[in-house]
Amino acid sequence: MVKETKYYDLLEVPPEASESDLKKAYRKKALRLHPDKGGDPELFKEVTHAYEVLSDPQKRQIYDQRGEAGLSESGGMGGMDPQDLFSQLFGGGGFFGGGGRSSGPRKTKDLVHRVSVTLEDLYKGKVSKLALTRNVICTKCNGKGGKEGAVKTCTTCNGRGIRIVVRAMGPMIQQIQQPCDDCQGTGEVINAKDRCKHCNGKKVVSEKKMLEVHIDKGMKSGQTINFRGESDQAPGVEPGDVIIVVEEKPHDRFERKGNDLETEIEIDLLTALAGGQFTIRHLDERALVVTIHPGEVIKSGDIKKIRGQGMPSLRHHEPGDMIVKFVVKFPESMPVESIPLLERALPPRKPVEKYAKNIVLEEVDLDEPDHDQRSRAEGDEPMDEDEGEPRVQVREPMSGGSMWPC
Ligand SMILES: [Zn+2]
Ligand SMILES: [Zn+2]
Repeated sequence: MVKETKYYDLLEVPPEASESDLKKAYRKKALRLHPDKGGDPELFKEVTHAYEVLSDPQKRQIYDQRGEAGLSESGGMGGMDPQDLFSQLFGGGGFFGGGGRSSGPRKTKDLVHRVSVTLEDLYKGKVSKLALTRNVICTKCNGKGGKEGAVKTCTTCNGRGIRIVVRAMGPMIQQIQQPCDDCQGTGEVINAKDRCKHCNGKKVVSEKKMLEVHIDKGMKSGQTINFRGESDQAPGVEPGDVIIVVEEKPHDRFERKGNDLETEIEIDLLTALAGGQFTIRHLDERALVVTIHPGEVIKSGDIKKIRGQGMPSLRHHEPGDMIVKFVVKFPESMPVESIPLLERALPPRKPVEKYAKNIVLEEVDLDEPDHDQRSRAEGDEPMDEDEGEPRVQVREPMSGGSMWPC
């Protein structure tokens, strides 16, 4: 029996879940909740913390026996940055489908960098330069941090970089690992006078590097460009990768749907009824001239496509289509003298409906609705008024023969 199930519930697993069940459940949830995917950062943090605890057999035992309270009493649960745990588990590339990196030599952290790219650049392709600051092995000391022989193993921790602290917690004795104070967790000490002057004993120096990022035609948001081994260097480990994540900037005229481009075009009533031309400024140095043939009628809300004028597909550069949604702009008023011309051109008016004798016909006028009435009728969201604040209503002064109940 476990004392609490909150952490298990967060991961949606039963308390008897195996370690691999937990990992699977966390991966599934984390991918959905990841703030980069629009998830709730707080929930992501909670789920990550739950996994952090349950994936550590020692912490899980404490939690099972004594719940969250037990964990906070035992101390040393500083809690990791959820992002760190996430990358540690799946590797920088894991999130983007590259698979985890559980085996193989140890690597430095991948460096993930997002670039915002315009739809124009994704349509035409582009090479952009990216300046990057990273650590490289100090060439003066070859990553040793000092003169040959100056680097000594820390005697406090025997080069392990950690020390074990034993704590008594009621009836239980717990061992906690802490970084060694004498060597700041590095396992080595260098005499101040023997330290490499160039890197100050740090073994690495920071360096600026230019990367050429090739944005290929047809790339999509979330796609990655990998620079193998271009992340930080550190002695004894392989450098991780620099991963560029492409992010598409929203466009003011086009919306991308797969390889299709959607756009809204406003045409005047005459063009809609009698044909004519309009243009669409494309994403490259072209404008498309579109003809509506006389005799064809375009209605507001009609959708047409222009073949082959969408985004190029990434692999073969086969283009998608451009999808045009029409909005027909009606004139505000109509000169009375031209009405006979319309009557000749358009289908006749629908006759006024006839009613039985007992129905009284009453003549009324059309007026403009007030602002609230209009927005309600249009089905708009209520305007962003603070809730709880009284709504101020402006009432028209009532005229003499008011029909309003008093
Ligand atoms: Zn030490
Ligand atoms: Zn150095």
